[in-house]
Amino acid sequence: MKSAYSRLEEELFICARCGYCRGACPVYQELGWESDSPGGKVSLAKGLCGRGKIGLPPEYIRKVYQCTLCGNCRQVCATRIELRQLWLDLRQRIAQADQAPSPLKQMRQVVNKCRNIVDQRNEERLAWSLDLPQAPASMDKGGTAPLVYFVGCVSSFFPMVFSIPQAFVQVLKRAGLEYVVLGGQEWCCGFPLMAAGMQADVRDLVAHNMAKVREAGAERLVTTCPSCYHTWAHDYAAIAGQELGFKVQHASEFLEELVRGGVIRLSRLEDKVTYHDPCDLGRNSDIYEAPRRLFLSIPGISLVEMRHNRDQALCCGGGGDLEMNDPDLTAALARRRLQEALGTGATHLLSACQQCQRTLGSAARKERLGVKVMDVVELVWKAMQGVEGPG
Ligand code: SF4
Ligand code: SF4
Repeated sequence: MKSAYSRLEEELFICARCGYCRGACPVYQELGWESDSPGGKVSLAKGLCGRGKIGLPPEYIRKVYQCTLCGNCRQVCATRIELRQLWLDLRQRIAQADQAPSPLKQMRQVVNKCRNIVDQRNEERLAWSLDLPQAPASMDKGGTAPLVYFVGCVSSFFPMVFSIPQAFVQVLKRAGLEYVVLGGQEWCCGFPLMAAGMQADVRDLVAHNMAKVREAGAERLVTTCPSCYHTWAHDYAAIAGQELGFKVQHASEFLEELVRGGVIRLSRLEDKVTYHDPCDLGRNSDIYEAPRRLFLSIPGISLVEMRHNRDQALCCGGGGDLEMNDPDLTAALARRRLQEALGTGATHLLSACQQCQRTLGSAARKERLGVKVMDVVELVWKAMQGVEGPG
């Protein structure tokens, strides 16, 4: 079997050193050194680990993990190098040599021990729902349903974004849909480990989550997290070596179908919004229009696009485990994205990702900026509340 190293080596040697990737990389734009650009990192890797098979020095390892895995470099690469996969292969090689950065090794220990990324008891996964008028139906209480809502670690454990799962389950309830969450039986989807290059640690998580979702009676799994969505939709079947047997959707696609089918009715909101495409939903999963169609179906909503939108969107700084590893760089990238959003004159910066909401929302608070950072699911719930009667 061909190793990741062989594929990596082949890819490294087709870089034309054209430099097109510099303008697409938020990390290069922030740090500014050639060695921080995707092409610069390829050149370094070529010298350090290609052909001569010399080990990677710590300074280079740091640079490999100073990347959000946003995929924008892959988009523009003149020689069509699969750059996002190349960064993942490099990380895998580094992790296999036990040279991954300490915060990521700690994260691996935490996930293996607690089954979540935050070192809290996994039974506390429903903390976000405690203030709701009615608790969500949960597998912890024997619930089953054809629709499973997979909440994800960030929405489950970071109070700043509890509002997203709260809004989503209230939308489901108001629409009269039968659903269930896995509660304490939900484990981390595995995305943070895969992003760290620790693929070998993901198999148990995948097997457990697939078994539980099937046990819940799922015909459809919906998630509000683009990284969970990407992992379920693109990686789970391959890792498990079998088909899922149920449909996987991001909440924005699912809700857009409900609105189109007349299941959800929306009242008027007079807001001017801009939309930030989450990397794992947009560029990495090719879902650009469903979230836009969803919030534009709310009467009165107007959209003004940022210069970098859809497949050109700049990362919020929160992807690729960067925040665990270099929170200052994450904050700098978030400020940069926020400035672009402010330039549109929009009052609301929408996204469809709890991690984007954390990074962009934190930046807006720190800079004391007036723009309201919101998830599309929250906006839909706000618009539903103005409608009389069911739906
Ligand atoms: S994936 Fe994004 S952050 Fe990483 S090198 Fe490419 S453009 Fe830069
Ligand atoms: S765009 Fe591709 S070929 Fe050009 S420098 Fe960057 S990685 Fe190399």
